Amino acid sequence: MCSLRDRSPDGSRFKVQGSFEAVIGLEIHAQLLTASKIFCGCSAAFGGAPNTHVCPVCLGLPGALPVLNRAAVDDAIRAALALGCAIHETSIFARKNYFYPDLPKGYQISQYEQPFATGGLMAGVRITRVHMEEDAGKSLHEGFADSDRTTYVDFNRSGVPLIEIVTEPDLRSAADAAEFFSRLRSVLVWLGVNDGNMEEGSLRCDANVSVRRAGERTLGTKAEVKNLNSFRFLQKALEHEIERQIELVSGGGRVVQETRLWDAAAGRTVSMRSKEEAHDYRYFPDPDLPPVVVDAVRIADIQSTMPELPDARRRRLVEQYGLPEYDAGQLTQSRGIAEYFEAVVAAGAPPKIAGNWIMGELARKLKEQAADVMSSPVTADRLAGLIALIEKGTISGSMAKDVFEKMYATDRTAAAIVEAEGLAQIDDDAQIAKLIGDVVAANADAVAQYRAGKASTFGFFVGQVMKAAGGKANPKRVNELLKKALGSG
Ligand SMILES: [Zn+2]
Repeated sequence: MCSLRDRSPDGSRFKVQGSFEAVIGLEIHAQLLTASKIFCGCSAAFGGAPNTHVCPVCLGLPGALPVLNRAAVDDAIRAALALGCAIHETSIFARKNYFYPDLPKGYQISQYEQPFATGGLMAGVRITRVHMEEDAGKSLHEGFADSDRTTYVDFNRSGVPLIEIVTEPDLRSAADAAEFFSRLRSVLVWLGVNDGNMEEGSLRCDANVSVRRAGERTLGTKAEVKNLNSFRFLQKALEHEIERQIELVSGGGRVVQETRLWDAAAGRTVSMRSKEEAHDYRYFPDPDLPPVVVDAVRIADIQSTMPELPDARRRRLVEQYGLPEYDAGQLTQSRGIAEYFEAVVAAGAPPKIAGNWIMGELARKLKEQAADVMSSPVTADRLAGLIALIEKGTISGSMAKDVFEKMYATDRTAAAIVEAEGLAQIDDDAQIAKLIGDVVAANADAVAQYRAGKASTFGFFVGQVMKAAGGKANPKRVNELLKKALGSG
């Protein structure tokens, strides 16, 4: 079996494993970052003691009526626009009926026949639909053995707004699927509609996977793989599932349509249940909710407030600032980084140097502190201030790294640190000449040796002058003035 990363000879995205091809579509659930839930006024914030963000609506008590949260619709519009979808003027909330302890109403309010938006495209993958729905509560299990297992239900998550994004089966490898999901995540976070936190479950991905013999047009039977709460798990789970299906089909077996879970500890997917068909859910329009109506004016209003998206921003950074593609890619990893970069440049720093500091020292520090660039104690203005001191030759590049550390730790400007600690380079020729004069006078023997042709003595003089200057003399000027003083300049 050849590697999953193999490309076809024509270099297309069509990937073949042995004589098989994998076909993958994703279903992504993203919690919207609204203050309140989708159909009630309860807080949608993550965390909080169990069952403290609840009311009759999100607990599904009889007679409680849902009222749609306008902010959730606005977020859904933003996401749908960014994914290039057509937003339908009218969409319908439907009840998806099934029983589960974390779903007290016995149905989830979702959208089915008339979804919110359809027909998008991102990174070469077609987006089938984007629809709105409510999240379910969360079951928490304690204990492992059946005899001592207890399950609790927390309804804080019940009714948190979600969008479900469904792609066409356009992905052909586990690596492509992981890369696409990563791009989708960065777009949603960039828009401010989702926090991208996969560990807390506010962004979740399921994958539909099937395999077929290369060249075949019809789709094979697919399995749905759930529980893919990191990019690494997504990729590993899909690699495993593709391999499992190929082995099954090669051996004359058949793939069963089912839902499988990724067991990270065992490194394999395991069967969870046979896959429901849509008709199992008995969808019907929710009689408690009127159709969602989104008119063209509202869409245009939101369109006018949409931020420049990552791809467009990356291209602009290359064109406007002459940055290399790689740098522009790194500096558009998040909207915060991109804005920070442009603020540093606006404050007067040369773009390439500003980018190097952000990708180097600042990124290292933020990672070390698990901090966000927006909360960096070294603000964009202050980083520009530090860069200005290097550009002027007040401090050396290596000294600047120490100053940066102190800026990060102490909430002071670079200029204040340089002044308070006397770090400024001695740049003044008269001062340097005085230091050189002292060194020359104190080392008559070495001077004689040097003048007799022993050139290696020069390094000794540089060392002595730098030592006398406490390491702060401008090395270039020291060299030049020394040569002059020793009579070889
Ligand atoms: Zn509620």
